[in-house]
Amino acid sequence: MKAKIAVLAGDGVGREIVPEAVKVLQAIGEKYQHTFEFTSADIGGQAIDKVGVPLPQETLALAKQSDAVLLGAVGGPKWEGLEYSLRPERALLGIREALGLYANLRPAKVYPNLVDASTLKREVIEGIDILVVRELTGGIYFGKPKGIEKLPNGEERGVNTEVYTTEEIRRIGKVAFEAARKRRKKVTSVDKANVLESSELWRRVMIEVQKSYPDVELHHIYVDNAAMQLVRNPRQFDVMVCNNIFGDILSDEAAMLTGSIGMLPSASIGAKVGLFEPIHGSAPDIAGKNIANPIATIASAGMMLSYAFKLEKEAEAIEQAIVKTLDMGYRTKDIQSPGTRVVGTTEMGDAILRNLS
Ligand code: NAD
Repeated sequence: MKAKIAVLAGDGVGREIVPEAVKVLQAIGEKYQHTFEFTSADIGGQAIDKVGVPLPQETLALAKQSDAVLLGAVGGPKWEGLEYSLRPERALLGIREALGLYANLRPAKVYPNLVDASTLKREVIEGIDILVVRELTGGIYFGKPKGIEKLPNGEERGVNTEVYTTEEIRRIGKVAFEAARKRRKKVTSVDKANVLESSELWRRVMIEVQKSYPDVELHHIYVDNAAMQLVRNPRQFDVMVCNNIFGDILSDEAAMLTGSIGMLPSASIGAKVGLFEPIHGSAPDIAGKNIANPIATIASAGMMLSYAFKLEKEAEAIEQAIVKTLDMGYRTKDIQSPGTRVVGTTEMGDAILRNLS
């Protein structure tokens, strides 16, 4: 196949980890005879320095014309004093909105060799492999009315509105069921249907969507119980589908089960172009030292192959190369443990590359 990939490395460690993921994608292209065309553009602080805005029109145009976007990270102390609308992080909201990315997929998987990196007990987290599917463009973060108003008695009143339409729930439901078909065929829908009407509709629509996926099990769980079960018995979950706010909170909780932030990829998908990025930020404290872990970004490239291009065999090859590299004892500093071999960002990328074949 042929695919155009927009490469937005951004700031800080983004500039070090993204080239490693590009290297891996290039190798996959050669090995499996696909033509991946990479075009780089500026985003975040780097774009502010060059043209004065965090998301230049050319960058957005490139993203829209591409088949997928690979993003590093944006932000850093240099731009922290800027007005909110000009901050690097605004670029993330801008690009998500412009690409209509309504679903955020975050896997939380414990690699056997990294079980001890988690703060939870080995017997609780060993073998977990969860995918949190979060609705990204609706719900209480966007619903109206919203705002803070003055009351006649001098007090103030803050309002946000949780709102979902049938169609918004249906499309995120489909993403979850499709993803579950590639996995262990179990969807757990998270809601608060005992209290919230919006959740009552959410649950009804999920039940409706499941009728088109008779091979996938559907379970329902209240969000408070979900938060508890994630630390009590996380292995019970396969795909968890959540509204925007519940997904925001639970995806962080699920991610932390696995230990290091440098290991965690994500995919955001919408009508057309998907965006693939590590969940971590620009890590200014370690930027420029060749010590950042590139695995989250390389695994994000793997998600791109699976979710944007349906190249399952190729995605699996990346996954296997990561596992093999960890099995061989290679570690970046953030995941080091006694007896392992600590390597830099580029060396980790090279080792994964060698293990692809
Ligand atoms: P961060 O994720 O950048 O870093 C948190 C901690 O994790 C740091 O100690 C860092 O060294 C470590 N870390 C992160 N990625 C790592 C990697 N690949 N390998 C090894 N260690 C890694 O979060 P922060 O420090 O809160 O934010 C730094 C900047 O990044 C801020 O400007 C913030 O706004 C921005 N940010 C951007 C994104 C994004 O681009 N998607 C996300 C979060 C934060």
